[in-house]
Formats: sequence, structure tokens, C-alpha cells
Amino acid sequence: MCHLLISSHDPEVKIPTVIGTVSIDGLVVPAGEARVSVFDRGFLHGDSVYEVVRTYDLALFEMGAHLARLASSAERISLRLPWTADRFDREVRRLVEVSRGADAPDPVAAPWNLGERSVRIVVTRGSGELGLDPGLAVEPTVVLIAVPLRGPPLAAYRDGIAAWPFGGHGAPRRGGDPAAKTGEHLFHVLAVREARAHGAQEALLLDGAGGVTEGASSNVFAVRGGALETPPLGVGILAGVTRAVVLDIAGRLGIQVRERPLPLAELESADEAFLTSTVREVLPVVRVGVRPIGSAAPGPVTRRIHAAFREAAGGGHNPGKVPASV
Ligand code: PLP
Repeated sequence: MCHLLISSHDPEVKIPTVIGTVSIDGLVVPAGEARVSVFDRGFLHGDSVYEVVRTYDLALFEMGAHLARLASSAERISLRLPWTADRFDREVRRLVEVSRGADAPDPVAAPWNLGERSVRIVVTRGSGELGLDPGLAVEPTVVLIAVPLRGPPLAAYRDGIAAWPFGGHGAPRRGGDPAAKTGEHLFHVLAVREARAHGAQEALLLDGAGGVTEGASSNVFAVRGGALETPPLGVGILAGVTRAVVLDIAGRLGIQVRERPLPLAELESADEAFLTSTVREVLPVVRVGVRPIGSAAPGPVTRRIHAAFREAAGGGHNPGKVPASV
């Protein structure tokens, strides 16, 4: 049995000034005072699962799919979720409600993101005596963090972004189960560090054979001859919620999709490329490593899919937010 001693004085905690609203185990606390135990296995080992959900007009988007993936991630690492899906849904909605208003102006933001929230749902295996054995954990910890949604600037949709390949033959292998969204992320952190060092906004994770699997926090699509190509779930990727929405949109638009392994050279020789993620939606990629993709500008298929995504996600009831001018 461990004794988690809470000191009578409140020690100084190094927390940068963060704008956000937090709840811990269902209790809303100011962001600057939000703390979990140093014995928490999420902190010590990345022994946790998480989701990032977002709002459109402050309504949660694809919450059912996110909660299903949270349950699947938890099952894959044998972590018992302490709340029902209904409770997660209720608590996240409540946090969004508490967090609304008073956003700082953001002149470079994509207009459809203004005033919106992203919410990180984190469930750790909880605190316990030090040691790797998951049996040492006493009770899962649930942390919800709602922040003003910081998507890519509008210019990134207009001009596209650069992505940088990371990993591949001879490089350290990524750890963990790629199909589970867990807090074990050091490989991804180092991948993004490398990408940033080369002026790129996202890292592309390569497998041992040099195939592109996914982005550090996104799924990857190439466009060739008007059709989409994207790695199948079987290569070891996260089943992105946005990826699924895009596959559905492509089906409705009559755009052919080929789910097959994507060697780096094939991505580099594509007509267009784009990333998908909850916060980035459909983001054009115009450079991979040092090579321009297609005409080095966002292409027509990417634009068409993004416009359809915007319509499906937020445009329908807020037409002013459809990026006709992007
Ligand atoms: N792949 C990885 C490794 C991710 O971390 C993410 C999201 O953070 C995605 C893909 C995209 O998933 P989604 O569209 O559900 O946000």
C-alpha cells in the first residue's frame, strides 16, 4: 500500500500560463491549479489513453466515434474506463459550457475555428506504488482539458504545409500499439522535433521498409490520377476519425479510394497530398522532405474534399464558415 502524502502547504508548481478549463475526476478546477499525483502512472509511464475532440458552433463533432475509439484504446491496454460513454459525453459537454466565451482575438486563425473548443480526454491507470506492474494502480484518473481550438492558420489551408519523413530502416522503432491512442508518445515527440528543425509542420512516420504509415498526429492521403491513396489500418496506424469521415465523403463524391501501403517515393510523386486530423480537418501538404508535391500548391481534389468536409462538419448550419475564398 502506498501512502500518498499531501503536504499542508501548496508547493510551487511549474505551470506556464495556460488558457483552459480543466476537470479532474469530474471536478472543475482552474487550469493553473490543475494537478495530478506524481505517482500517477500516466505521468510516470505514459500508462494512459486519450482522445482529442472538437466543437463546431460549440457542439461536439463525431463524439460517438471518439468515445468508441477511447473504449477500444482502453481495452487494447487492459485499462478499465471508470465512466460510461454517457458520462464522458455529459462531462465533456459541461466543460465546454463552462469554458465558453472570452477568447482572445486571433487574426491568423481559420474563421471556422474562432470561438471553438478542443477537449482532451485523458484516462490514466491511476496512482500507485512505484513499479511497472499495472496491478499497482489503485483507481483510474480522468482529466478533461478544454482549450480554445488552435487549428492551423488560414494561410496553411491556402498555401499548404511541409511534412518531414521520420524513422524507417535502421531508425529506432516506434513503441506501443499504433491502433491504441495512448499517452506513450516519445517517438512522436522526437519525430515532430525533427520536422520542426527542418521547417516542416508535421512528421511522417515511416515503417521499417520506408513506407509512410501516418503523421505524428494525423493520417496521410495522396492523390493520383484523381483517386485517393491512403495506407490501410493493417500497416499499423490509428483509425483516424477524420480519415473515416474523408473516406465517406470520397464515396459520396464518387472519388475512388485505394487503401494500400504508401512507399515514401509514391507519396513524393503524387499529384497532391493532404493530412487529416480532428483539429486540422483536411490540410494540404505541398512539400515532403525537400521535394515539392505536384505543383507545390494545394490541388483541386484536396480543395474539393476539404470544402465537402467543411460543409459536413460546420458549414451546413453556419454557411459563413465555408472557406470559399481559401
Ligand atoms: N494518427 C495519429 C498517430 C494521431 O495521433 C491522430 C490524432 O491525433 C490521428 C492519426 C488523426 O486522428 P483523428 O482524425 O481522429 O484526430
